[in-house]
Amino acid sequence: AHARKPLISGNWKLNPQTKEEALTLARGIASAITDSTPDVDVALFVPYVFIESTMSVVGGKLSVGAEGVCPHSNGAYTGGISTSMIKSIGVDWVLAGHSERREIFGETDYYINAQCLKILDEGMSVMLCIGESLAEFEADLAGSVCATQLKKGLKGVRKEDLDRVAIAYEPVWAIGTGKVATPEIAQSVHAKCRDILAGMYDRETANMIRILYGGSVTPDSIDDLMAMPDIDGALVGGASLDINKFGRIVNFN
Ligand code: PEP
Repeated sequence: AHARKPLISGNWKLNPQTKEEALTLARGIASAITDSTPDVDVALFVPYVFIESTMSVVGGKLSVGAEGVCPHSNGAYTGGISTSMIKSIGVDWVLAGHSERREIFGETDYYINAQCLKILDEGMSVMLCIGESLAEFEADLAGSVCATQLKKGLKGVRKEDLDRVAIAYEPVWAIGTGKVATPEIAQSVHAKCRDILAGMYDRETANMIRILYGGSVTPDSIDDLMAMPDIDGALVGGASLDINKFGRIVNFN
């Protein structure tokens, strides 16, 4: 039994390439969610241009979220998409702090924090991604990196808004590499993250926050990960582009 309602989420990144492909994938994923699926929340983070059409084909079986957002409200930010814009088309969930945004797009903890605050202000939910690099993992720094990213990312977030926050622990060395963290490693970092959240807020609040694992999750690894007491779901990249794989992940045992 899970202490928190599991949340299984997919992150399409810069895929698929056409609206047609996106809708075929979305329909397939929605049809994998059936009456015998565990009692889970499902969210798909999809490219902005596909959000509305994806929403229209999934029949309310899952939330369609945005992969990111510009923390500025309006004005001269060419290419930006604001929280008001995505809120106005019915988006509930927004991703923030993904390691690809941090590394490739240079997003800082400060910028990610501004996104989190803006998303929450707008009444939407945020999934904040955190996680250490391989070098940091090997230097036994996973816990301290996560502590820093949690504290900076959630700076100023009010306790009463935390029911709209999920954390995705994604060790960078496991993202897109096929190297999934062992359930034991993931569990130990998740437990540390929960302790950090308890220190920032309180234990009761920390116990309510969903902490998801991300990093090369597949049908082969999901069941053992979900059996861990502090793993409350998954954020899935590559396998969320495959109807059969993501369908099996949503229907974990
Ligand atoms: C991700 O990008 O959030 C992710 C976990 O990717 P993958 O599942 O492909 O490792």
